[in-house]
Amino acid sequence: MKKLITFYIISLFLIGCSSSKRVIKKSFSAKDAAMIMNADSLKPMRVYKITNRKDSLLLRLKSSYIKPNLKDLVLQNFVKRLYATVRDSMSMGVGIAAPQVGILKNIIWVQRFDKENFPFEVYLNPEIRSYSDKKQTVKEGCLSIPNRAETLNNRSLNITIEYDTMQAKHKTETITGFTSVIFQHEIDHLNGILYLDHLQKDLKDTKP
Ligand SMILES: [Zn+2]
Repeated sequence: MKKLITFYIISLFLIGCSSSKRVIKKSFSAKDAAMIMNADSLKPMRVYKITNRKDSLLLRLKSSYIKPNLKDLVLQNFVKRLYATVRDSMSMGVGIAAPQVGILKNIIWVQRFDKENFPFEVYLNPEIRSYSDKKQTVKEGCLSIPNRAETLNNRSLNITIEYDTMQAKHKTETITGFTSVIFQHEIDHLNGILYLDHLQKDLKDTKP
């Protein structure tokens, strides 16, 4: 009987270990976690720029799934520091994506110009499900591309996105106008795409 209990306890322990391993896999690597936790939540992180060769290579990589989990203290600190980075007086952006601070995870902040008081909101694992055929012409800049802004004419006017909230709720939403451009720009970052790539496409489209 005693042996059986010991076996039962060991089994529980093993189950506990394997499930926590799964969580870690969908969270941050030890290296990323150390970088995120090296300062408090109010401290901005360094913005990766295409003018730095090493940075520019990372900006071209694809980000991966992040498990929404309010108990994940590294995730909590990261989301806050990513917000501090976009709101930093050096940046003052309207959106930011995790790879822009060197973290290849599907996390973005977007300023919602379509909502009252233009709040900043965080989105985990955002994906664009559909694009309107109707396009819009908007001037874009990027925190990772210094001293440059260009007018693009191939962003969709409306998009439908799916994403997870920090509270692990899965949502679908249709976004229109300028705010949809911010989502398209930030979600591009998660796929290693920069707005300059669209500019090249723009130029190709207008060639006779
Ligand atoms: Zn950008």
